[in-house]
Amino acid sequence: MPDFLDTEHAEVRSAAERLADELAALPGRVAESDIGAAVRQASKSAGVFDMTQPMSVGGTEAGALALVVVRDTLGSRNVGHLPGVFGPSPGVLANVGEPLRSQFLLPYLAGELRSGFGFTEPADAPRHTWARLDGVDLVVNGAKSYVTGGADADFINALVEVEGTGSAMVLIETDRAGVTLKQRFGTLDGSHHAAFAFTDVRVPATHLIGEAGGGLRRAMSQINATRMAIAADCIGQCRFAIDLVEQTLVERAGRRSSAGEPARVGTDLERVTLGDMRIAAYAARSALYRTARLLDAGENAVNEVMAAKSLATESLSRICDDAVQLVGGTALVDGHPLADILRQVRALRLAEGPTEVLASNVARGRLDLGLGRV
Ligand SMILES: Cc1cc2nc3c(=O)[nH]c(=O)nc-3n(C[C@H](O)[C@H](O)[C@H](O)COP(=O)(O)OP(=O)(O)OC[C@H]3O[C@@H](n4cnc5c(N)ncnc54)[C@H](O)[C@@H]3O)c2cc1C
Repeated sequence: MPDFLDTEHAEVRSAAERLADELAALPGRVAESDIGAAVRQASKSAGVFDMTQPMSVGGTEAGALALVVVRDTLGSRNVGHLPGVFGPSPGVLANVGEPLRSQFLLPYLAGELRSGFGFTEPADAPRHTWARLDGVDLVVNGAKSYVTGGADADFINALVEVEGTGSAMVLIETDRAGVTLKQRFGTLDGSHHAAFAFTDVRVPATHLIGEAGGGLRRAMSQINATRMAIAADCIGQCRFAIDLVEQTLVERAGRRSSAGEPARVGTDLERVTLGDMRIAAYAARSALYRTARLLDAGENAVNEVMAAKSLATESLSRICDDAVQLVGGTALVDGHPLADILRQVRALRLAEGPTEVLASNVARGRLDLGLGRV
């Protein structure tokens, strides 16, 4: 539950509320081209920018609940997606040793290098992307089909099957011989992606991120963190959409009142829809905060994270769709916040695990593995 925050988390929420006010006021005050820098500056002053960065580089490495509190709060004002709110987080490169730390992790955290995450593969791939050890090199072959930001990335952290040892995350620079950018494409939500082929790409064996055999675990830990981030953004936006509908209904009632008509806020049908929206948001938000608390307590909460991501994205999708219907045609005009959220959430129901795959995995945990509390 979002209630009963201790003093530390209550202060985090207050700082996020102040930042949300500041960010919401930015577009009128700052030229569009300067928004990124202004957001970063405001976020640094609020102590939010550093929350996703490791302590070893001056970050504060916030826990799951603190990050949920901030994302939920910023989402409720629809400003959480602005570029520069959070500093680059290490992701799968967390705790890497030398030479990866100096050559890639530190420049990446400083914003000097860009990366992509290579997990999804073409449906018709004859074999998962694989590598063999050849002396001091790894030789990689295969393909990744959906690397967000890939066309501008300096390197990709790719999941690879290393012959003889199992799955591994391997860092592959995009300018290595044998790396081909096969396609760049945009999606409905406005994000950009790339598909890559790897043909006998040689990288030093020191480009192995963590130990061979632990790649899938490392990738899943990154995916779990991203699922929590998506869920928290969506939960905040649920509240944003509902507040916007209520405001619209109040304004409509005000106009009727001025015209001397009955001034009750909302018709019976609008009230039922609004109540359903609030119930769905309440359930999804409660599940998310519970999951964050389990994570901070060191529990294995992989099933709860899947449930929270699924609940948050599906709830926001439904709530936003209903909100558009209640607000009317203006909500579909390009640039309207509900139109933007609707596009984003459509992609989020697939990204980082489609809803059906998450549900199927929760069932598998119970039926095949005897695991999970969900
Ligand atoms: C905006 C966006 C950003 C992305 N960014 C990245 C990225 O940076 N890196 C990356 O590697 N990938 C990325 N992806 C890819 C994303 O992870 C995949 O699209 C997603 O995992 C689904 O895989 P797929 O597209 O191959 O669909 P499929 O796996 O073919 O699934 C299609 C549908 O089949 C059904 N289905 C499939 N498997 C099951 C199952 N086990 N149980 C029940 N139903 C099932 C589901 O309904 C599912 O939606 C991104 C996707 C989006 C939309």
